[in-house]
Amino acid sequence: MKPKILVSACLGFCHCRYDGSQLKSDVVEMLKPSVDFVTICPEMGIGLPSPREAIRIVTQKGESKLMGSYSGIEYTEPMNTYIESFFNGFDEATFDGVILKCKSPTCGVKEVKHYGNYGKVPSLMTKTHGFFGGAVKERVLSLIVEDDGRLLNEEIREHFLTSVSMHYDFKKVKAAENKAQSLVAFHSRNKYLMMAYNQSALKRMGHIVANHEKLNIDHVIEKYENELKVIYSSQLRPGKNVNVLQHLFGYFKDGLSPEEKAFFIEQIELYKKGLVTFSALLLLLKAWVVRFDEPYLREQSLFKRYPF
Ligand code: SF4
Repeated sequence: MKPKILVSACLGFCHCRYDGSQLKSDVVEMLKPSVDFVTICPEMGIGLPSPREAIRIVTQKGESKLMGSYSGIEYTEPMNTYIESFFNGFDEATFDGVILKCKSPTCGVKEVKHYGNYGKVPSLMTKTHGFFGGAVKERVLSLIVEDDGRLLNEEIREHFLTSVSMHYDFKKVKAAENKAQSLVAFHSRNKYLMMAYNQSALKRMGHIVANHEKLNIDHVIEKYENELKVIYSSQLRPGKNVNVLQHLFGYFKDGLSPEEKAFFIEQIELYKKGLVTFSALLLLLKAWVVRFDEPYLREQSLFKRYPF
């Protein structure tokens, strides 16, 4: 079993763009060996050929329509029908993430141009989301949804891959025979990763796992999953994870030379000023995990977030 991601088909799977081409996304290419991609092209889904006339969103009197850029032929109704039928058959729980084509009037989730009319030199009204991308953003609540353009940003990409990885890992907890035991193991191996994202949520999750109220395990899993959504929606803030780094550094204090300790403390100061990245310090710590063969840290997902 591999993580499952819904992806716009033109991102390396199908020559389905309006001009008959396909695109290449480095992130999608990197993930291909370790992910099950499920492709979708809503424009082909409503019966359009490739190549075809480009379409655009035209917003007039507050109403957005999907139209042929030059012909003005309207595709709003077939697209809305297609979206409804897609969601009727979409089992969100089986997926781990979504990657859609940026800026497309159909697949785009952000920064999609809305025009005042079709034809030459149209007036630009605003930028929001495409028809299908907007529906995915609105209705897919438990998955991280990104576009290929935003995934070029290192922080956004890291967050996306981490969320996909944790979501996939948690699906195994829910499918396990001994869910209670599996949940404890999940909480343990993700402890420092979750601490980096949101320390308050981690504390609450610790209480949920301890289950002093002796709740039914399915109820415990549900409560825990709600807190996981808080983690997915949190950000790794540059310069703010000193606490996590110090916790991890504590494991090696006795084995390191004074010079190595001073070097790490100096790097933490640089990190606080935004001059060194969190990933760079994690790499340094990972080298010590290997050198001192620290079994608890070896299993920490913070040090092996992906490939999955
Ligand atoms: S952006 Fe979406 S609708 Fe357009 S070609 Fe790609 S998959 Fe198809």
